[in-house]
Amino acid sequence: DFVSTAMTMKGTLSEKVGTDLSQAEKQKQSIQEVRRSLPVFPYREDLLSAIKDHQILVIEGETGSGKTTQIPQYLFEDGYTKGGMKIGCTQPRRVAAMSVSARVAQEMGVKLGNEVGYSIRFEDCTSERTVLKYMTDGMLLREFLTEPDLASYRPRFSVLISNIASATLDTERFSCFFDDAPVFRIPGRRFPVDIYYTKAPEADYLDACVVSVLQIHVTQPPGDVLVFLTGQEEIEACCELLQERCRRLGSKISELIVLPIYANLPSDMQAKIFNPTPPGARKVVVATNIAETSLTIDGIIYVIDPGFCKQKSYNARTGMESLIVTPCSRASANQRAGRAGRVAAGKCFRLYTAWAFKHEMEETTVPEIQRTNLGNVVLLLKSLGINDLIHFDFMDPPPHETLVLALEQLYALGALNHLGELTKLGRRMAELPVDPMLSKMILASEQYKCSEEVLTIAAMLSVNNSIFYRPKDKVVHADNARMNFVVPGGDHLVLLNVYTQWVESGYSTQWCFENFIQFRSMKRARDVREQLEGLMDRIEVEVCSANGDIVPIRKAVTAGYFYHTAHLSKGGYKTVKHQQTVYVHPNSSLFEEQPRWLIYHELVFTTKEFMRQVIEIDSSWLLEVAPHYYKSKELEDSSSKKMPRKQGKAREELG
Ligand code: ADP
Repeated sequence: DFVSTAMTMKGTLSEKVGTDLSQAEKQKQSIQEVRRSLPVFPYREDLLSAIKDHQILVIEGETGSGKTTQIPQYLFEDGYTKGGMKIGCTQPRRVAAMSVSARVAQEMGVKLGNEVGYSIRFEDCTSERTVLKYMTDGMLLREFLTEPDLASYRPRFSVLISNIASATLDTERFSCFFDDAPVFRIPGRRFPVDIYYTKAPEADYLDACVVSVLQIHVTQPPGDVLVFLTGQEEIEACCELLQERCRRLGSKISELIVLPIYANLPSDMQAKIFNPTPPGARKVVVATNIAETSLTIDGIIYVIDPGFCKQKSYNARTGMESLIVTPCSRASANQRAGRAGRVAAGKCFRLYTAWAFKHEMEETTVPEIQRTNLGNVVLLLKSLGINDLIHFDFMDPPPHETLVLALEQLYALGALNHLGELTKLGRRMAELPVDPMLSKMILASEQYKCSEEVLTIAAMLSVNNSIFYRPKDKVVHADNARMNFVVPGGDHLVLLNVYTQWVESGYSTQWCFENFIQFRSMKRARDVREQLEGLMDRIEVEVCSANGDIVPIRKAVTAGYFYHTAHLSKGGYKTVKHQQTVYVHPNSSLFEEQPRWLIYHELVFTTKEFMRQVIEIDSSWLLEVAPHYYKSKELEDSSSKKMPRKQGKAREELG
């Protein structure tokens, strides 16, 4: 985790009110003891003086040594926030920003959101009083939009880059990149970790995880277990299996506390992983790779590593982004193993062979900027006045073609002119903290007079496929409930229908429960919608409704997502620009219907290239919304006649 801490600050902490030596006081004392026990603590003074002497400093230390939680507090204690200044600390992940700020607020004895707060997309937990602000990198970039000189972090603006010790190479690269900035090393404290491999590859790593956890629980001395899986679904499945097996074993085994952690988990649940394990029990944390570097859980002695992670990848030729489960890198595997050796000697069980580790895994993970769609970044940089992106001094330059494609896409969306300069539309698009295509869709809703509906759709799309609840033991009921929401036109309109009915129910939890809808996701959609609606004023979009007419809504979607058009021909669906074969996702409301032309929200590769969230369009709309991108020749087959139904076969194939 690279944590850049921009500093200097404002205001004083609320006066500490004298109280008797109560429970709270004792807890405070123990918190201070914990703070003093962290590896960074002995270096407090040296660090402060190095920071005083250098405007840019690269700080290296083991994960969990206290870089993120302590250094900002040291600066605060040293008076850096006097005179109205702030300390900002960027985090690579939302979860990390939330969890670390909660911890720091606790350590400082303040309420989260007051002196210590966090800011992540669609969620701003800070106030006038906030002097210590944890945020995702993206949010810091956004702050440049409103405050280009970051004045509240000056006058003496410093950058601290903190890096994990195992990535020594990176430390040198950082230092080099910042004109040989000095490096401050916090010596690590690390216990040996024994590594075990499997003799043969595991056919089912989920099952292997469950078995390994139980084996550890029954045969190994006390110590908590950390399991690395790739995402929410896997994690939930693993937790369920573990709980079920424990129930069956009953009192034959001691208590096993099973806790999931992933990005979409509600924050009260996230906090649970940090609760100390009661004596006699054992804790198992089942995590995504956020527990690799971004979160440190004390007490872990055993790590189970199946060797996979979910990775974003981007095909610059077709402009397609996908999230694929892939083997993790050796660097990742070693970082995972290291998590077992923080408090005592530990053990790491790798559910793959030593051969696979040596020969099948990549040395390091490719930086995210090199495998993602850069539309967002480019739009933001352009609006910060950085015009020449081709020659921009990136630390890890993204592939040339990715950059060019991002520029082309922004041009096609109308955000840039033919000279590559930001247009008025582009400037407005940059104000919205969402992908350029989604921004464009929202802005287009102004012209089509359907912003009410489009805002809802945008919010529902942002909560990421977690609207419908489909528990394994009630699949039939859940699917029926889902069918009841189907309306003509496509999935976007289904989502709109769900939201509208929920509003009519008075935002009811009971309604969600009865309709197999996830209340949590709906609440989040409502938050996102409110935030987006709040921004409409700023970009001068009037919020109005199409009053039941679905054509304008679909046109607005088309205006944003015309890149994502697929066309049905004899062989099935193909994307219009790249002739790539794609399939309607079996969960889609249009799975049976097979419209000639459709637009998809995203493409995911699981067993096939599936289009998720699709909407039916008329091909003539493409010429209307993107005349510079589509030629009428490409769209010749514009009849709205439907093809004979034959996806029944595809469904069988899927099982
Ligand atoms: P680094 O940035 O060097 O990786 P951190 O500052 O994140 O280290 O962690 C320092 C300590 O703070 C660790 O012992 C970690 O367990 C603890 N910690 C971090 N976040 C929380 C939290 N939300 N609750 C409890 N403890 C936490």
